[in-house]
Amino acid sequence: MEIVNIDVAIVGAGGAGLRAAIALVEADPTLRIALISKVYPMRSHTCAAEGGAAGVIKADDSFDLHFDDTVGGGDWLSDQDCVEYFVQEAPKELTQLEHWGCPWNREADGSVAVRPFGGMKKQRTWFAADKSGFHILHTLFQTTLQYPTISRFDEYYALDLLVDEGRCQGLTAMEMRSGMIKQFHAKAVIIAGGGAGRMFPFSTNGAIKTGDGMAMAYRAGVPLKDMEFVQYHPTGLPNTGSLLTEACRGEGGVLVNKNGRRYLQDYGMGPETPLGQPQLKTMELGPRDRVSQAYWHELQKGNTVSTQWGECVMLDMRHLGEKHINERLPLVRELAIAYLGVDIVKDPVPIRPVVHYMMGGISTNLKAATPLPGLFAAGECACVSLNGANRLGSNSLVELLVFGKSAALSAIEHIEGLPQPSAKALETRAEESQARIRALFSRTDGTESMSGLRKEMMDTMEKNAGIYRAEAGLQEAVDKIAELRQRYQKVVLNDKSNVFNTDLFQVLELGSMLECAQALTVGALARKESRGAHQRLDYVQRDDTNYLRHSMVYYQGLAAPQVDYLDVVITRSPPGVRDYSGEHK
Ligand SMILES: Cc1cc2nc3c(=O)[nH]c(=O)nc-3n(C[C@H](O)[C@H](O)[C@H](O)COP(=O)(O)OP(=O)(O)OC[C@H]3O[C@@H](n4cnc5c(N)ncnc54)[C@H](O)[C@@H]3O)c2cc1C
Repeated sequence: MEIVNIDVAIVGAGGAGLRAAIALVEADPTLRIALISKVYPMRSHTCAAEGGAAGVIKADDSFDLHFDDTVGGGDWLSDQDCVEYFVQEAPKELTQLEHWGCPWNREADGSVAVRPFGGMKKQRTWFAADKSGFHILHTLFQTTLQYPTISRFDEYYALDLLVDEGRCQGLTAMEMRSGMIKQFHAKAVIIAGGGAGRMFPFSTNGAIKTGDGMAMAYRAGVPLKDMEFVQYHPTGLPNTGSLLTEACRGEGGVLVNKNGRRYLQDYGMGPETPLGQPQLKTMELGPRDRVSQAYWHELQKGNTVSTQWGECVMLDMRHLGEKHINERLPLVRELAIAYLGVDIVKDPVPIRPVVHYMMGGISTNLKAATPLPGLFAAGECACVSLNGANRLGSNSLVELLVFGKSAALSAIEHIEGLPQPSAKALETRAEESQARIRALFSRTDGTESMSGLRKEMMDTMEKNAGIYRAEAGLQEAVDKIAELRQRYQKVVLNDKSNVFNTDLFQVLELGSMLECAQALTVGALARKESRGAHQRLDYVQRDDTNYLRHSMVYYQGLAAPQVDYLDVVITRSPPGVRDYSGEHK
């Protein structure tokens, strides 16, 4: 096996990975950095982000208000020291992006424009039309190109971490073009592998969001934190799951049921404001968990609209007018025409909630460090405990920047004085990783198909771990995922070639998703309360006495994972009532 010797390896070249790479070189231009990604960097999911990134910038806003919105939005499961740090760093990072060339939209006076976003009671979401992630990722990517010490390993699939003497000292990854496995020996590894929404059948997530980074850390003994909190976005297209950004509602779009009623006023988010008024009440700008849950109730009441794509509610943006739509929501118009044949200028568009984001992930502290020395994580794959039980829209893009940078600075601190890892010491671990792949190729007793297992997993997750959950369904899901993980040991690899073997990568991705799904369902069954995105029909109240804690799930091979808990950090905001009935300014 070829060995690549470097100082820091980064798994993932989305927003978090690229930001970490830049911070590493800026702090120490002599560092040798490997940036490893299973897709070309610009194909990372960050590119698909539409609505924008939150940071206090206007005179009537403050860090305290951004803090309050984030902590309340997260139903008090956020670590408050983390939120305090985040809100202060956010505007600095967004301004830094501007200096690197990000084309933020402007007000008429030339200052940065912001738009309202769900659960944010002030306008603080910076945006570049409805292609914010595209512009952010381009800006970061073009910035990395000037640094020769960042070596890119595009289309390399990361397999396993190399751990010796209780420290993470690198990883194995397969060059997808040749099927060759290489060892990356590094003094520190940063995982920035993105989310895992693809465990569900109906998701806004790109097909590559399969939780590989989470699963790698989990298998190496690092706990996954708060995995039961899965965010549904209230406005996805009913056939493809493609996202219609929250900016649709931020710009003034409204949600109506089959009777034409703006039903959110019936779920504590009213009262209704007449269409076209610039100052909206909370209504459509409620947080994502609440707006998605309201859809579920409308469905139970028979108030949804039956369409050829299933039950939906309608998102009406006609009153915004063609000029405004073309300027602020051009991608939304394009998507609705392309996939549904609906022009939002002329007609309301049918939508439904879809799985969008994982609040949970690799357990990290404020410095983006995991409990395993030498391993750091940032972005959607990590759970630094910013988002608590429900992320507010537009906090994620900023999280990538703030904690991508933290991960880099912490990695630099860690590697100071460390020797280059010893090839001899890592040999056994690297061979185990290679043997795992060889076993797939040489298996002759395979009986299970990758696509069959994947479908069963997705159906189970959708049926039992969705917007509302209960004991019996969750138990069924826990049992089913355990069964699927056993059956996965007999999965068949149909394509035995070495060149761009997509069959192999889908098999490996399924393995990652099953591991994440197991942590998720076990955590959800154990949490006997309703909080944020985790709503239980059998435990309808939030229970701060027993569950104002993060769940920590530990890998135990094929046996049932172990669940433990960690206290939430409360600095100044004791758990309170989430109130979205007031003014939105
Ligand atoms: C449609 C959509 C719209 C969104 N809009 C917004 C928004 O407006 N505002 C907001 O704040 N948030 C938004 N989000 C959320 C936000 O965009 C994501 O949480 C964020 O971009 C994730 O960034 P990341 O760097 O963590 O991961 P990603 O951008 O997903 O990148 C993951 C990287 O990991 C690599 N990788 C994964 N597995 C492996 C492996 N096995 N080997 C090698 N490499 C691997 C991939 O190649 C990729 O480079 C949106 C999300 C979606 C899906």
